[in-house]
Amino acid sequence: MTYQHLFNDGSVCSLPVGKVVCVGRNYVDHIKELDNPMPTEPILFIKPATSLQPISQPIVIPDFTSACHNETELAVLIGNKLCRASREEAETGVAGFGIALDLTLRDIQKTLKEKGLPWEKAKAFDGSCPISPFIKPDDLPNPQDTRLKLEVNGRVRQDESTKLMIHSIFDLIVYMSGFFTLLPGDVVLTGTPAGVGELKSGDRLALALDGRFGFHASVA
Ligand code: ZN
Repeated sequence: MTYQHLFNDGSVCSLPVGKVVCVGRNYVDHIKELDNPMPTEPILFIKPATSLQPISQPIVIPDFTSACHNETELAVLIGNKLCRASREEAETGVAGFGIALDLTLRDIQKTLKEKGLPWEKAKAFDGSCPISPFIKPDDLPNPQDTRLKLEVNGRVRQDESTKLMIHSIFDLIVYMSGFFTLLPGDVVLTGTPAGVGELKSGDRLALALDGRFGFHASVA
């Protein structure tokens, strides 16, 4: 299946599909649950366009891992070219908000981290970024005070407000755009709150953004 960005109202998004720029360790409770040191500045990494897939498409866990973890994150669809953007350019450069899974192969990542190697094998594999259709900014007026929720097989695993981010959405976009030009159709992921855990074949997932926008997912 070829991935294309969609809007939640059913309209097609004409933006191309680009890269996904992500931040690690942006919620204090998640840093503590993995016993990671507190970063002094945002930790950035990139997933390629081939990581994107519709949230409704079954998640396929790669055969080279034994620990595929959920990380539920607020996703931002970039609408304008942002290069060394100002705060205002970042705020007006957003085309939509969604909810995404930053799937992470924790066993592979642990080995790579220990060796000081890049994380791509653990985070950038095909289908590693299942993502919802996007809600237009007018329909999500307070993205910095909205809830991200994930239930796995009917049990709440992640449920937290985006208020608890260490670096705010727009500060992050400004920061990222100082290193990598963000193009229309790129996606920014803003980090996961606590509650990461293993996904297994047959799991049924329910994701909700702002308590109003719900999406179902499953693991093949
Ligand atoms: Zn993440």
